Amino acid sequence: MHALSRPTLTIDLLAIVENYRRLIAQVKPAEVAAVVKADGYGLGAKPIALALSAAGCKTFFVAHVEEGATLRHTIPDATIFVLHGYDAAHRALFAEHKLAPVISSKPQLIDWLKAGLRTQHGLHLDTGMSRLGLSEADLTMVEGAAEPSLVMSHLASADDPEHGKNEEQLTRFRALMNRFSNTRFSLAASGGCFLGAPFAFDLVRPGIALYGGNPGKSSENPMRGTVRLTAPLLQVRSIDRGDTVGYGATYSASGPRRLGIAAIGYADGLMRSLSNRGHGVIAGVKCPIVGRVSMDLVTLDVTQIPERDTNPGTAVEFIGPDQPVDELAKAAGTLPYEIYTRLGPRIERHYTGAHRS
Ligand SMILES: *Cc1c(COP(=O)(O)O)cnc(C)c1O
Repeated sequence: MHALSRPTLTIDLLAIVENYRRLIAQVKPAEVAAVVKADGYGLGAKPIALALSAAGCKTFFVAHVEEGATLRHTIPDATIFVLHGYDAAHRALFAEHKLAPVISSKPQLIDWLKAGLRTQHGLHLDTGMSRLGLSEADLTMVEGAAEPSLVMSHLASADDPEHGKNEEQLTRFRALMNRFSNTRFSLAASGGCFLGAPFAFDLVRPGIALYGGNPGKSSENPMRGTVRLTAPLLQVRSIDRGDTVGYGATYSASGPRRLGIAAIGYADGLMRSLSNRGHGVIAGVKCPIVGRVSMDLVTLDVTQIPERDTNPGTAVEFIGPDQPVDELAKAAGTLPYEIYTRLGPRIERHYTGAHRS
């Protein structure tokens, strides 16, 4: 028997590979790199990098140098860019694992030039996000230094094709590009892949789209769902009119109800903002979350489900074919990014769909 009480996350590596291929077709002839920071958006950087690498992906992005070091032996020949850039304290780690820092500030650039490492590196230019990135003034320092293998910037509003910021950043990026000759350029993350050919340049850096999140704001998500999150019912109980549910007694039944108690809570990433909002799905039927989400449990109104379909152990789907991650995220008042990266360590993870040949 399967462990009765644990939530389960099934990650379909083939679906991730299919999303990768779909992006390749979308941005051709640009290269599609994979962003696998934060442990592959919480879904498992190693199995994902392995599957994508087997499918032909040659370039990966992480945030921290340690994430790159951990991944190195999984993808020995890939280029691994470190988005947080270079710092002298980690010189040995960059050298040993051949990690390519994406230099994004003047102090980093100074340290990098001093380090004298011959490994690849990228430059991150700020074009209006005001987060990471060298300013135009900082660029005078770059003259005479070794050519970066990648010059990139990041879009602030790429999920909204109508947003004027996109063109504004594209124009700024183009103006800064003139200073570099023998390098490759990158501007687009997931959203940018769908803004049209001028945004693709030589390489795109999708994360969320690979994992099935909607790269844009439109109701049609062009990507395939990649995960199924379920939790088993621990018990079912009946309540009467006026009975309340959970901490704070925030839900009061207006009539007789049957409740299903599922073994997942905010400690597992089922966010507390889903209290009295959102659904779990049993046998294709949406069951409203009632009362507060607690640390290890959530309560669902299963009145409409036949009793024989609500036995203890019955799987309640929170993400999957019946409830895409975008839908759960919307109910929680957040984005798929946050839903994924909060999925907790108690969740049993299974991988399907792709194996190393
Ligand atoms: C996280 C990140 C990405 C990937 O973003 P998605 O929206 O998930 O595609 C790309 N580039 C940079 C600089 C990032 O920080």
